[in-house]
Parts: sequence; structure tokens; C-alpha cells
Amino acid sequence: MDFAICESCLSGQTRLTRAPNGAECKICTLPFTVYHFKASSKINRTLICHNCSKQRNICQCCMLDLQWQIPVELRDRVLSAVQGSQVTTQEAQNEMMKRFIALKNGDSYKLGGASITSDAASTAQILERIRGTLAQIELPGDKSKAAKPIVAPNSASEVDISHLIKKLPLKNSLETAQSFFLYNIDSSIPEWAIVEAVSEVVETSSWQDPVSTSVVINHMARCGGIRFKTSELASKFVNGIEAFQTPANVTKGKLALQNSKIHVVAWPHFHRAAMGNKNSECLKLAQVLEKLVQKDLTTAGESGSKARQSKVAKPNKKRASVKTKKNRRAIDIEL
Ligand SMILES: [Zn+2]
Ligand SMILES: [Zn+2]
Repeated sequence: MDFAICESCLSGQTRLTRAPNGAECKICTLPFTVYHFKASSKINRTLICHNCSKQRNICQCCMLDLQWQIPVELRDRVLSAVQGSQVTTQEAQNEMMKRFIALKNGDSYKLGGASITSDAASTAQILERIRGTLAQIELPGDKSKAAKPIVAPNSASEVDISHLIKKLPLKNSLETAQSFFLYNIDSSIPEWAIVEAVSEVVETSSWQDPVSTSVVINHMARCGGIRFKTSELASKFVNGIEAFQTPANVTKGKLALQNSKIHVVAWPHFHRAAMGNKNSECLKLAQVLEKLVQKDLTTAGESGSKARQSKVAKPNKKRASVKTKKNRRAIDIEL
């Protein structure tokens, strides 16, 4: 078998159509053998080559980790937290590096957490550690011990992220700038899908600056930043996305993507570290941004919000069966 497609993408389908050199891989850009198949009444296809999939241990269709079904970035964060050392999947930032990585054999060359989740023994070991940590947290009956170790979601409220907030453009509007801050990013939306949505708006896939980081998505903090290589492309982006007015009369943008809408504001001082490094910071930031999204949307003009509701009703219904998590997102996005 020369492809890697997860169970949920295949959804039981065993008949696949093979198209040699059918497309360019979304990661390494080399031509690869594309597989088409019909699953849950729609045509699905592989987007990345088998080698890139093996290097990252991700599904060639949805690009989620094959073992854990979560985005690579989130997987690496979980592993970093459990192992106590940094695990990251470093994607190439320039063509040379891209080619260099593409030439490595994915059977032995693994990026970031792929070395763990692609290996049964390592995965078992990590899961054992996670179980151990969870067992420590839930010590039933012993309140004195149980009170402290609950580090996960509760402690997020105590984490101080004012130093990050200062650097983030939370009060900005959608004005012309060369870089932008994106928030309200659903964790099920992979980075490539965001890149593709932006490419569609600006009608070219070569909008990224080849020498500096142009896309940073922090799934745990549910935000990210993008930078265009020219101001023309940036203003094309601003004009191409839906603009909306917040109750505070600030104009913001919405980038429509799958079932959700990513909020967009200008971020002239695009700074990746401002989105947090530690998991606790990212989780807290996600909470702060969630509140901002509610603020952006909830008290908007009555008539306007009603019109919006009826507009989005259809796509929600279509994907209603996909995942309950998605439904919840759809609700809190389009309040
Ligand atoms: Zn590839
Ligand atoms: Zn998949």
C-alpha cells in the first residue's frame, strides 16, 4: 500500500482511483500519485505525497496525526508537555530547505512528534505517562492532594499573560498592513487549509515572503499570524474578505473557511512569540480570544445578526453529522 489515509477520511471505502503524478504535494510541492475516492457521498482526495505523510505521520487527506487524529502542532505540544522537552515539526521556510527535507526517506526520517506516534512502542510509553499524570490529578476522596495538582484548565485563569496581550493587536481593526492577526481558529482546521483560503482570496499561492516566516498558526491558543510579501497582496486580502462592524464600531474581517469564520485584524508588528510558548499561556490566550469573539459578535446590530444567522444555517446543517465538536464551534461562532 503506497498511501496513508486515516479511517475517518476513508470511512470504509476500499475502492480508490489512482492518478500517477496527479497533483503537486501541498507540503513539498513535488508531483505525487493522487488517490481519489468517494466517502460519505463526497469525493475525497489525497493532498500531500506519501513521503511527506510518513515524515510527519499524518493522513494524506486531512493531515491530522494518523494515530491521534489531531493537528501536528497540537500533537507536538502535548508530547512536549508530557516529555518535558520541546517537540516541534519544523517546516521548511525556503525552497532549498523544502527540497532538502523532501529528499529524506519518510520511513526513517521523522519530523517532530512523528517519531513517537508512528512507533507503537513509543506511543504506548507516552500514553502510559499521560495515564500516570491523569491518575495523579484525580485522586478520589483525598481533597488535600487533589486540590493542587489540577493544573490543566483551571489554572489557565491564574496565568498572567498581560505581557502577551500587550504585543497582540486585540484593539486593531482591519486596516491595510502587510501582516494580520487571525483568531477564532478552530483546532480542526489545519494550517494548509488556512494558507489555501488566503491564496484563494488573493488569487495566487505565492503570497508568502520566501525569506521570513509568513504563517504561524498556534492551534492551542486558537490564533495565528500571516504576512504578505507585498502591500498590494495585503490590500487585495483586506478587500477580498468579508468586513463586519463590532458593537464598538471597529471594522474587522472574517475569513470564511470550512464551517467557521476566522476573525482578522491588522498586525503591523507580527510577532510569533506574542502568541505564547507555554501551554498554560496558550490556553489562557485562547480563553481571552474566545471572549473577544463573543464580544465581536453577540451584541451586534439585531437585524444584521439575524440576517447572518439565516445565511449560515445551510452549511451548518450540511455538516451536522460530522462531529459534535464542530457543531458546538458553529454555535459559538455564529451566536
Ligand atoms: Zn510531499
Ligand atoms: Zn484523514
